[in-house]
Amino acid sequence: MSLARRIYAKRDDLIALTQSLIRIPTLNPPGRNYHDVCALLDTRLKSHGFSTEMIRAHGTPGDSDIFPRWNLVARREGATKGDCVHFNSHHDVVEVGQGWTRDPFGAEIDGDKVYGRGACDMKGGLAASIIAAEAFIEEHPDFAGAVEISATADEESGGYGGVAYLAEQGFFDPARVQHVIIPEPLNKDRICLGHRGGWWAEIETKGEIAHGSMPFLGDCAVRHMGAVLDQFETQLYPAMAARHTQMPVVPDGARQSTMNINSIHGGQPEQSDDYTGLPAHCVPDSCRIVIDRRFLVEENLEEVRGEVVALLEDLKANRDKFEYEMRELNVVLPSMTDKSAPVVETVHAAIESVLGVAPTYVASPGSYDQKHIDRIGKLRNCIAYGPGELELAHKPDEWVGITDMLDSAKVMGHALGTLLLPK
Ligand SMILES: [Zn+2]
Repeated sequence: MSLARRIYAKRDDLIALTQSLIRIPTLNPPGRNYHDVCALLDTRLKSHGFSTEMIRAHGTPGDSDIFPRWNLVARREGATKGDCVHFNSHHDVVEVGQGWTRDPFGAEIDGDKVYGRGACDMKGGLAASIIAAEAFIEEHPDFAGAVEISATADEESGGYGGVAYLAEQGFFDPARVQHVIIPEPLNKDRICLGHRGGWWAEIETKGEIAHGSMPFLGDCAVRHMGAVLDQFETQLYPAMAARHTQMPVVPDGARQSTMNINSIHGGQPEQSDDYTGLPAHCVPDSCRIVIDRRFLVEENLEEVRGEVVALLEDLKANRDKFEYEMRELNVVLPSMTDKSAPVVETVHAAIESVLGVAPTYVASPGSYDQKHIDRIGKLRNCIAYGPGELELAHKPDEWVGITDMLDSAKVMGHALGTLLLPK
């Protein structure tokens, strides 16, 4: 039997596996049922000849005895020495949200679609990679090197209890793993080379409280923040809009530097909806915003941070009584794998051969676990490739296409053949 036919023969198995993964609600936050989903995969992969490890990311954000951060790593050695190809999928899913017409954890099938939270992002991709690996091993039991499959926690909340933890433990050391494919839903004919960086910070302007009838006796922190926002509008946004990247980011609007103002709070805290009283008359002595700045491989973090600090320092020098504090909340550095990297060239050729189309290169506007494999693991031969339409991720009535899963499994199997069969 050819590998492609062997994968197609596993269609029912692929559907059943996808369904059983969706039916375990691995909601993050808070991080439910991580042990159950890892245990299911542990049993399955052991029965297919993999040696497995269940790893709890003790002490990482969110880890507790009620919501432990469990991960699974499975490895199957080949007959001779060679490279190791690793498929990494996150097993957590985001909240359900409103607007569903299907049971979010029912894994209903309708035509060519399997519905459910996480179907597309990314339990369908996880199932496809498992089917691809199992079929490849059955077809070529004499393969060289090793195949690894991991199912990891917390990608949706930064990956610290998942891939970052495993990378710190050496699981993505280039001496151990040489090629990584992350089956995120990027569409079956696209190769995702990496993602932009992110810098999150809180800025607070300071004022002085006074009676609202005599604001001149105080100092309004909200007006100071207005001046900050004005600097952003007149200086920062035009400067960012002029900066374009060579990264193939989709959609087009994300092919430049961007910044979201995530929140603004100033003055008295808002009362609950059932409070019927009126506000007291006070001049606000504090106003805070949270900014979410996404940056390009062509920019560096010091410049990104420095350009905001320069605007704030300029106000401090030129605006009466302007005082501020800035607290950095989080940083993610951009990651971009070279188009000539072996895993990119291999998957490129596999897509052409299996699907008969030329693949498109993309990069992600937000980040995913590649950052940890790159920055902590120091492994630069990593891409995201998997079934599912990116636009469906995190939406109501999320689904994954059965044909798409089969096609991408064939591409993954083909890539395994290129990387692990003696030439
Ligand atoms: Zn995902």
